[in-house]
Amino acid sequence: MESVGRLAGGVAHDYNNILSVIIGYSEMALDKVHPGEALYEDLQEILSAAMRSKDITRQLLAFARKQAITPEVLDLNASVEGMLKILRRLIGEDIHLSWLPGDGLWPVMMDPSQIDQILANLCVNARDAIANVGNISIETGTVTVDTSYCRGHAEARPGDFVLLSVSDDGCGMDHETLGKIFEPFFTTKGLGKGTGLGLSTVYGIVKQNNGFINVYSEPGQGTAFRIYLPRHEGEISEKRPTDTTEIPRGRGETVLLVEDDVSFLKLARQMLSELNYHVLSANAPGEALQLAEDHAHEIALLVTDVVMPEMNGRELAERIQILCPKLRCLYMSGYTADAIALRGVLNQAFVLLQKPFSKSELAIKVKTALEKHWN
Ligand code: ADP
Ligand code: MG
Repeated sequence: MESVGRLAGGVAHDYNNILSVIIGYSEMALDKVHPGEALYEDLQEILSAAMRSKDITRQLLAFARKQAITPEVLDLNASVEGMLKILRRLIGEDIHLSWLPGDGLWPVMMDPSQIDQILANLCVNARDAIANVGNISIETGTVTVDTSYCRGHAEARPGDFVLLSVSDDGCGMDHETLGKIFEPFFTTKGLGKGTGLGLSTVYGIVKQNNGFINVYSEPGQGTAFRIYLPRHEGEISEKRPTDTTEIPRGRGETVLLVEDDVSFLKLARQMLSELNYHVLSANAPGEALQLAEDHAHEIALLVTDVVMPEMNGRELAERIQILCPKLRCLYMSGYTADAIALRGVLNQAFVLLQKPFSKSELAIKVKTALEKHWN
């Protein structure tokens, strides 16, 4: 998922530009070479490799970026099978992937892209935990959890569950690491390598679907993630957000807007002004802290990007909250991953808005954030 996340976050844009150049020039070169020449085949290989990369990026982005969550009744075995090819590409050729589908699986009610995200995150982590060669296995099954099991597992609750397990024979984890793995931004990987959002995303997704997770790991002994998803029974009752025709407007409240992308900052600033908010804007967290110091009594709401250089949105919010204790917070995020990661763990006066968004979506989220009560 970290590779997916990084691709999704702007890198994909550059990457696709580079691929376009490779594809464009190899096509033009092919036009200048006769099909009989040796060079023709070489060029064709370059072109087809570039096209394959394009497909992979597109597939990865398709599930990394999926915005709205639409649960449907799923056969988990079919969902896993549909991902095997992409997972094998993610983990590479030195790692063996075994697939052990369980019999008589119950259906689950979930957004299929969430299963994809869980699998991709867990497999990439397993891959990273394996030094050279190793094994990853994916298993499914059915489990009925009883109250005695729940006594030993704080997160569990009784009922029928479909089990999805991903295990590896990699480096494993010590007790201390194990205690932190679901925290957003927790990573033991180097700078630019880990985002620390993979497992918090998984946790968020599983929570959202009323399931729970158990992890077994020992240093040097590998790791097993066991995800319990509730059995789906009864009718499908999809709850879709209702369209709101009326756009709620502000009453001149002061909003501190923080975003490192200058053109995006300009756009959001304009939207908020048109919605009758008084906007203070900053394109870096440091600048935002300065503004917060100067306007501590005015600022009602912080609207901030989640991933920024210097400091992430959550840290920024925490620091500004010290200056403005009644501050409300609206996070803007370009990745579903951040979104779910934050939702899973943060509570407080916290609202999330997924990029890209329309003015009316922004208006509604700003209102929701401003009206949020402290508990
Ligand atoms: P990231 O992969 O970006 O570091 P994650 O949230 O996916 O963030 O994982 C958090 C941390 O949990 C990892 O940095 C790693 O230390 C640990 N971890 C996760 N999965 C495994 C695994 N299968 N084996 C060993 N350690 C793992
Ligand atoms: Mg990860």
